Amino acid sequence: MSLIVQKFGGTSVANSERINAVADRVKKYVDNGHQVVVVVSAMSGETNKLLKLISEVNSKPDPRESDVILSTGEQVTIGLTALAIQERGIKAKSYTGSQVKILTDNAHSKARIINIGTENIQKDLNNGFVLVIAGFQGADEQGNITTLGRGGSDTTAVAIAAALNADECQIYTDVDGIYTTDPRVVKNAKRLKSITFEEMLEMASLGSKVLQLRSVEFAGKYKVNLRVLSSFEEEGEGTIITYEEDHKMEDPIISGIAFNRDEAKVTVESIPDTPGIAYQILGPIADQNIDVDMIIQNIGHDGLNDFTFTVNTTELNKTLDILEAMKEKLGAKKIIGDPKVAKLSLVGVGMRSHVGVASKMFRTLSEEGINISTISTSEIKISILIEKESLDSAVQALHKAFNLDQ
Ligand code: ASP
Ligand code: MG
Repeated sequence: MSLIVQKFGGTSVANSERINAVADRVKKYVDNGHQVVVVVSAMSGETNKLLKLISEVNSKPDPRESDVILSTGEQVTIGLTALAIQERGIKAKSYTGSQVKILTDNAHSKARIINIGTENIQKDLNNGFVLVIAGFQGADEQGNITTLGRGGSDTTAVAIAAALNADECQIYTDVDGIYTTDPRVVKNAKRLKSITFEEMLEMASLGSKVLQLRSVEFAGKYKVNLRVLSSFEEEGEGTIITYEEDHKMEDPIISGIAFNRDEAKVTVESIPDTPGIAYQILGPIADQNIDVDMIIQNIGHDGLNDFTFTVNTTELNKTLDILEAMKEKLGAKKIIGDPKVAKLSLVGVGMRSHVGVASKMFRTLSEEGINISTISTSEIKISILIEKESLDSAVQALHKAFNLDQ
């Protein structure tokens, strides 16, 4: 007998038919002798509908009240799911976040979980109940309802799995796993059987559509076995996200290719090579809550450097305005913004123990006539900036060169 946490996202509980399918799946697990805890999202579109309603009555909504409203989507699905399970002759009980005692901080709309009281739910589990817990919500010390940020039900599921020491946390969604790359760009992209937490975090651009990244961090930290599966298929083992890195010699060196088309490059040209200059540039940008991704400083000459970094395309103009205003103070010659770049990353823990990955990557791209404008690396990732226009062909060529389609 195992204890399994099963999380069903919005599309998996979109209507009564889908909720009945969830109950059928739960029954299968119960019939096989497992203990099951279900975590559900709101029915798909429901949270957006609530957000729209909020914006129609108040232009600067009080975050406390917004969370009261937003948390109701999940409350509907826990009740319906519990009823559907009961209909199949199985004891089931619903729990809101605060009924479980999911204690969070008071950062409404992006609250963090501080503690999960397991006393009540453990008792029910021992008494043979299937528990159906509302994702995405908790309550602060004062009992105010809080929400965990969009996609937060994934984090609820992982946190519950960690608190109950579950054998596995299964995330059911509308795709059947994590792929080597986006199947819309490479038709024969393959589902990965397994991937490590580190790789999953690096593959943000691929994975974040499937899983809230915070839940992946959480699972890595608390050593929860996480599996992504499709709720639209009867069978299938999905992709397991492991915290162990038992890498075998024959395993592929590269696990996947992630990319982001929404990246823009900013270069601050010819700045003095003095201590504190990077902070002088990036400090005011961070103060405006602009996320900076790749950062590269090129050693120039005559004591001058070029400083390059990327931001989301939507923040390019704001970033350029901030820098233009500081240009003289920085002693920079020129500020250049380039919205036409895309970022591509090769990701794989196998890189740690293999040489020649970078050279193979660059050879492949040179054979395709693709120009690389910026390169940065970590232990398990090589990221480059190229023209947006050549992104698809670059991904396709590299997918083939690294045998990801096999
Ligand atoms: N219902 C929330 C959202 O749409 C939480 C979730 O689905 O994970 O973001
Ligand atoms: Mg989701």
